[in-house]
Amino acid sequence: MSQSDINQPFLTVGQRFGYSQVDAEFHPYKEFKTTWQRCGSSAEFKVTDYLANASPEVLEEFAKCLFIRIQQQRSEVYSEPILNWLQSPNFIERNQPIYLRRSRNLLCSPRGVHYDLREILESLRNQGLVKDGNAAFISWTDKPNRFRMGYCSVLMKVVAISSILDSSEIPKYVAEYVLYHEMLHLEKGLDSMRSQHNAEFRRMERKYPRFREAEDWLKRIASESR
Ligand SMILES: [Zn+2]
Repeated sequence: MSQSDINQPFLTVGQRFGYSQVDAEFHPYKEFKTTWQRCGSSAEFKVTDYLANASPEVLEEFAKCLFIRIQQQRSEVYSEPILNWLQSPNFIERNQPIYLRRSRNLLCSPRGVHYDLREILESLRNQGLVKDGNAAFISWTDKPNRFRMGYCSVLMKVVAISSILDSSEIPKYVAEYVLYHEMLHLEKGLDSMRSQHNAEFRRMERKYPRFREAEDWLKRIASESR
């Protein structure tokens, strides 16, 4: 889909919402986001280019979600057709590699100096803590991060674990626990984008056998840097 093809769906929907002039273009944001500016009856959108292979129907639906959001001043809410598109193989196959290229602090490998995240994931599966078929791209970060031990893009199915945990001085179960936490986010799917660490999430988190010890380690690592 070319750049010009996004304008029509946004204009069509915008007119229904009372806008006479609508300009939309794709923009290569790293995260899945869209920004806009309004002035009177005109609106300009910079739309995440992760939607560049979406059909005109999906783009119209996406525009509708945005105009509703602008009108009602609500936070991000996507309709069923959009959520389905975001979870389709078409979306992830095209966009995950783009997202990885835009993620600067990724080793892009699960194999660290001391620990291999594939083995750690396998261990979580064997303990029944992570379901099979949860295909995700899992990697150590390039540089160690003391404050963000793990990161997960539910949308792009990418999990990154801070390479600070890839150390012979830190037991393997600490990395395992952080990976478990991130895999829980993936398992909860797009719902968890809204209800990040709710009570149910915390309950699941505590199922990790060495939960307390792992948490203590994480606190210690964070405090050592001060
Ligand atoms: Zn989390």
